Amino acid sequence: MNMTLELTPTDPKIGSELYRLPELDPVTNLGPKTFYPADPKQRLYYMPFDYGLTYKVTDPPFNRPDSDHKGYAIDWNMPVGATVIASRPGIVSYIAGWSDDNNGVKISRDEWDSDVLFTTSDFYIHLVLDPSIVLGRRIERGEIIGVVGIENHLHLEVQVSKHSGVGKDGRFTNDVPFPIVEITDRTDGIPWNGDICKSQNICIQ
Ligand SMILES: [Zn+2]
Repeated sequence: MNMTLELTPTDPKIGSELYRLPELDPVTNLGPKTFYPADPKQRLYYMPFDYGLTYKVTDPPFNRPDSDHKGYAIDWNMPVGATVIASRPGIVSYIAGWSDDNNGVKISRDEWDSDVLFTTSDFYIHLVLDPSIVLGRRIERGEIIGVVGIENHLHLEVQVSKHSGVGKDGRFTNDVPFPIVEITDRTDGIPWNGDICKSQNICIQ
């Protein structure tokens, strides 16, 4: 199953608010193309909540038992008001305001996967966004992006599009797996339903 290359126009959440990522520097400035972003730490995913806290996975990726997801999204059961922090750095590329207490935000960056330049977008859903979250803003890992809204859980998925696909044609691939650094008791870094996840996020910058 090739989850990374097929464009499927199925995402109903794509709106007109999409922000076009800035053009990249010439390729020669990016370092080896299979290693961009150059710092490997920048490419990793950490738990999207504060250091030391534990939350339970209540909906794992579709290839795990007891999943309601169509893709590789993960839901954590989190109380209303729990802080959500950026799992990975990037640029705010999309803000969805479905209601006052149920918003979504995509944090995106361009990166190489083998010979192909992609834009990956981390889509955080069911938040009340922090007022500081505005289109085009750079977000570092560990920065607060909002708090959990009335849905009582955080949904995180990672979408991939061809470079400059963000905002260009409104089409994304299916979401893709994103192993999380702190999940060391699963060989692929991807949780199962009911796993209790502990964040070490803030101390690993
Ligand atoms: Zn979900």
